[in-house]
Amino acid sequence: MSAAPQGGRRAAVLAQQIRESAQALATLEREFPDNPAAMDYFYKLFHRVYCEGGRAQPEGTLVGTTCVQVPDEIVRAAGGVPVRLCSGSHAFDLAGADFMPAKSCSLVKATLGLLQDERPAWLDSLDRVVNLTTCDQKKKAGQMMEELGCQVHHLEFPPSKDSEHARAFWRASVRDFVRAAERMTGGRVTRASLRESILAVSRAQAAYRRLQRLRAESPALLLGKDAFLVTNAYFFDDLERWTGAVDALVAELEARREAGISAALRRAPRILFTGSPPVFPNLKIPVLVEQAGGVIVADETCSANRMLNDAVSVDEWNLYDMVDAVADRYLKPCTCPIFTSNGDRLRRLLDLARTHAVDGVVYQAFAGCQVYEMEHHSVSRALAEAGLPCLYVETDYSPDDVGQLSTRVEAFIESLRSRRRRRQ
Ligand code: SF4
Ligand code: SF4
Repeated sequence: MSAAPQGGRRAAVLAQQIRESAQALATLEREFPDNPAAMDYFYKLFHRVYCEGGRAQPEGTLVGTTCVQVPDEIVRAAGGVPVRLCSGSHAFDLAGADFMPAKSCSLVKATLGLLQDERPAWLDSLDRVVNLTTCDQKKKAGQMMEELGCQVHHLEFPPSKDSEHARAFWRASVRDFVRAAERMTGGRVTRASLRESILAVSRAQAAYRRLQRLRAESPALLLGKDAFLVTNAYFFDDLERWTGAVDALVAELEARREAGISAALRRAPRILFTGSPPVFPNLKIPVLVEQAGGVIVADETCSANRMLNDAVSVDEWNLYDMVDAVADRYLKPCTCPIFTSNGDRLRRLLDLARTHAVDGVVYQAFAGCQVYEMEHHSVSRALAEAGLPCLYVETDYSPDDVGQLSTRVEAFIESLRSRRRRRQ
């Protein structure tokens, strides 16, 4: 293909991505009544970045990351600015099909589609990527990112997390990563800079946990579509500003609770969302659930709960102990289905279902994502034993299945309502 049509095609992809984002924001903002005023910060942020090409991050070397298990604290301590590249754009998914087989997971294809030469303005200067070797598709995508001209560090992740061997392997990977991050940014990871970044991330996590606790309230104070937008903003926003915006949202939700204002009816079925991660602008299934009258009160996904739940626990504030403590935080509590066995994921799901008093579970699997597809059986079995109905939805980023999915989602929400009525 000649340079001109290629450039023209790329411009069309970027324009389509802007339209998609604007449409998704219009749905989130306007189709649901009485959104908290503090959500305006997030609606405006996404508008500025995704529709107007503004940059949200502070100045510094952008370092792209492809999974929540990449330790942000190390990137920040080296003076870099981490941005998570996982993309939810259908336009980028279609463009990424040039690199990956059509049957691959939409998230990986969209990430490759995003990284082609002409990028959205907010990623313009990005050429360094940390790619974690988790699922097979991410592993292979790392090589393709190199072919796209990115300087890629392949951060090696163990296939299991239960053995001492796996822990030692991962600690060694993270120690190597300290040097790699320094090479990428030209900065130094020092005792002071790592301590500062651990504390800054843990302040953000504390704000997130305050929000999480409020989501356990009944009637629900926040819709899931907004909770996902808040956590997705963490991918690219300035850390301190994001923490302040979450604190403001928490304060407003507490005030609304005192005033008796809720985000959903008391009888709205309460949903736990799990599976392949909802990433903006693909919030298709969460939006369908809430348009049908359900409310997502908790999630177990790597774009929300799994990303921010667990804090680094440091015994001694010296550099070596801090690096190992950071490594442990990204392995031990991880509930990603890529591990050979994953009892922790089942335990966390059942725990969230209990603490958030959920009526049912919605399990999203992106077509082509083998690990989530395969793990669905053990999850469904454990949920059935706990008496929790589960709707399994296989989907991708295309809008084509919305009609058919909305019928299934509505029927599921209705079945939860009748179940509740029978129990009362
Ligand atoms: S599903 Fe697992 S491998 Fe994929 S982005 Fe999430 S945590 Fe990373
Ligand atoms: S959704 Fe599945 S295939 Fe896609 S990146 Fe995550 S684990 Fe890999």
